[in-house]
Amino acid sequence: MTIGILGGGQLGYMLALAGYPLGLHFRFLDPSPEAPVGRIATRITAQFTDRSALKKFAAGLELVTYEFENVPVETARFLAERVPVLPPPAALEAAQDRLNEKLLFQKLGIATTEFAAVAGREALEGAVQQIGLPAILKTCRMGYDGKGQWILRSAGDINRAKSELRTATAPGAGKRRGTEASQPSTPFLLERLIPFTRELSVLAVRGRTGETAFYPLVENHHRGGILRLSLAPAPQLNPAIQQAAEDAARRVFDALHYVGVLAIEFFEHEGRLLANEMAPRVHNSGHWTIEGAVTSQFENHLRAVVGLPLGSTHAIGCSAMLNLIGEVPDSAEVLAVRNAHLHLYGKSARAGRKLGHVTLRASSPEQLASRLSELPGYFHRPEFSLEAVLRQSASARR
Ligand code: ADP
Ligand code: MG
Repeated sequence: MTIGILGGGQLGYMLALAGYPLGLHFRFLDPSPEAPVGRIATRITAQFTDRSALKKFAAGLELVTYEFENVPVETARFLAERVPVLPPPAALEAAQDRLNEKLLFQKLGIATTEFAAVAGREALEGAVQQIGLPAILKTCRMGYDGKGQWILRSAGDINRAKSELRTATAPGAGKRRGTEASQPSTPFLLERLIPFTRELSVLAVRGRTGETAFYPLVENHHRGGILRLSLAPAPQLNPAIQQAAEDAARRVFDALHYVGVLAIEFFEHEGRLLANEMAPRVHNSGHWTIEGAVTSQFENHLRAVVGLPLGSTHAIGCSAMLNLIGEVPDSAEVLAVRNAHLHLYGKSARAGRKLGHVTLRASSPEQLASRLSELPGYFHRPEFSLEAVLRQSASARR
């Protein structure tokens, strides 16, 4: 059985690695001749808009899924006329435009940040009056890892953002080609900047039969808009918060007839959850599940889309996942730490690029803290927030 995957980055790479033991085969489509999956699977290098390449890609596939949420919706629809596409193209449509996403949350009664659509630079001041400062301005489409965002705290910031908007291009444009066919819609969204307690995300999965499963919430630490560190399960997790996250995911599942893994990112603020964004795919904050859960998010995504029973989402002890960004540490130094697992994606090094990750697993939060402190110097730079996390965990135990 061959599964087609749109996008050939590290998420696709890890999907294939999880699928081989299940007897699955993979064919990828990615515009980049350097897509990491080329090392381990059949890869078609073509634009997502190249219809003759799409036909060739779809021939003989059992189904198509995607690991990249900016695949043009038209591409997913074109393929869906030939072969099942899961999660359904409607999920892509909802998630790849921040305004659509917020409107969906609102429609489903999922609490989200206050927001206003900003049609263009001229509309910015009006939106600021409505939302207030501090606020965060985001491009509606193609933003990722904090790119295409401006934090506004003062009139000076507003002016700076306005002058940058004049020249702003879609931030993802240089990252992955082949997405030009996406329809432009409201170009920006202004959101209230939330002084959140912490960021949490839920990974949820729904199978073809409607069966659902939820991983425990994960606590995420970002620097400069990029995920650096995840703790799973999130420390001091209130069961009501877990329930609220699962309830939000269930609403999205039902509204979109969803099949596959879904990630929703939240801010925990004043004891409740505000949905920030969702991703209709496996997610960076779920990488810990490879070693830290009974069944990984990658395996569960494949089980879901193929129509197999879902696997347990139970966490094995507690885990920390650290992203390797821009450069990688010495492998031997990482692997010298007990229960540290290294994943390198086979990408060439470039500033700001996710090149791999490390997951540390432990049987208790105390043991996890002590293993984290044994990590080599690379991880003790401020961007990992490791010292803050260790302090927090020590004070929680007192
Ligand atoms: P991306 O698609 O780049 O992940 P996000 O909307 O998740 O975009 O923003 C990246 C990060 O920026 C978030 O994880 C969070 O740390 C910060 N951020 C985004 N929106 C807000 C907000 N409304 N209030 C406070 N911080 C925010
Ligand atoms: Mg995000």
